[in-house]
Amino acid sequence: MAEVYNWHLGRNMSYPYPEEHPDRQFVAIFNINRCIGCQTCTGACKATWTFSKGQEYMWWNNVETKPYGGYPKYWDIKILEMLDEAHQNAGQSAEWDESVANEQAPYGLYNGMTLTEAAAGTGDEVIGYLPSEEEWRAPNFGEDSATKYKGGKLGISQDGASLPEHQAWFFYMQRLCNHCTYPACLAACPRKAIYKRPEDGIVLIDQARCRGYRACVAACPYKKSMYRGTTGTSEKCVGCYPRVEGNDPLSDGVPMETRCMTVCPGKIRLNGLVTMDENGAWAEDRYHPLYYMIRMEKVALPLYPQFGTEPNIYYIPPRWAPRAYLHQMFGPGVDEAIARYTAPSRELLAVMQLFRVTQKMIFRYEIEEGPLVHEAEVNGKPWQMYDDTVIGFDGQGREAVRISVVEPIHERPSIRLNSI
Ligand code: SF4
Ligand code: SF4
Ligand code: SF4
Repeated sequence: MAEVYNWHLGRNMSYPYPEEHPDRQFVAIFNINRCIGCQTCTGACKATWTFSKGQEYMWWNNVETKPYGGYPKYWDIKILEMLDEAHQNAGQSAEWDESVANEQAPYGLYNGMTLTEAAAGTGDEVIGYLPSEEEWRAPNFGEDSATKYKGGKLGISQDGASLPEHQAWFFYMQRLCNHCTYPACLAACPRKAIYKRPEDGIVLIDQARCRGYRACVAACPYKKSMYRGTTGTSEKCVGCYPRVEGNDPLSDGVPMETRCMTVCPGKIRLNGLVTMDENGAWAEDRYHPLYYMIRMEKVALPLYPQFGTEPNIYYIPPRWAPRAYLHQMFGPGVDEAIARYTAPSRELLAVMQLFRVTQKMIFRYEIEEGPLVHEAEVNGKPWQMYDDTVIGFDGQGREAVRISVVEPIHERPSIRLNSI
């Protein structure tokens, strides 16, 4: 086992291979607060990549309803239980120490074991399990099911629907392969058929090398590697790499966001490439929208960072769900992320307008300041809203989009009132 640095955990951890990082890393932010659960993303991926024989049950992108839903069924509950059991057997606890947070460890220090560390002495690289066929069968299990109301006649709560926690709640959880920095699937593959591309960090399975042992299916804690019976190999999200390479006919030669990202009517997704430095850390890139929101504002957080794979899909947590549930899911940064999202800074509000306004990946933004348009009190503090304009630039430094905080209103001239 090698020692590698995992910035989500704020410490070194053991991993079967030494550190090796791509030049740029595929990253996305999903704003859970805005998702309408329409599954357009799910359909777009299915229609592009998994419409063939043997792929019927494969949903590389899925949207499940938390807390009850999961594809495969109960995937995260099962992994969390396994990790918990490993801690109990070792007489250890899994705590976060937020007091030591710094630039290299923005969420503090994770004192527990990762899935790789918990596997020490078991003969496996990672602890995990192979889901049953029954568990893969119902991708929409639990969809739109809320937890029940606690109080009131007829079960209707008088005061259960106000922040910070709703008494009856659910939220949509959008999922695809996290193109992890330290992929568990790659660690477990006995054929070395899984690799991380040096140009963009996308994790792929070499179909010529794969022999279908399903070690990756068992090892991936997010259950995003899937077995295909008709080919006898495992498959997973390919990060729509032709689009990321700029080879899509529409792309004009610059990197494009993936299929599941660009179709999103809820405008919850922003996808791009962040630059890595020579030490394998994110190079400082102050005006990159993903760098700014994840590293500076810390408004978006990794999913189950304690698993130890350093996933590269980040989530703006839902404001209304119980905080204990969110802390378990996104780590200790939840309260700060929700506070910053609820009362965004002037710059954050402008940058958040960039979600889903162009199919091109945005590599840099600029802001043109506009007038003060609204004042309010949020969380007991004064808050101002400015009609700033944010400009996004593509991979060749060209202006790709320009959008203001206040959506412009276009009035149809009276001469055309009755025309369609
Ligand atoms: S999410 Fe799973 S399949 Fe994707 S890179 Fe991470 S460990 Fe591998
Ligand atoms: S990135 Fe592409 S391959 Fe991956 S889930 Fe989205 S649409 Fe599917
Ligand atoms: S397309 Fe967007 S809004 Fe619809 S389910 Fe997917 S992530 Fe949510």
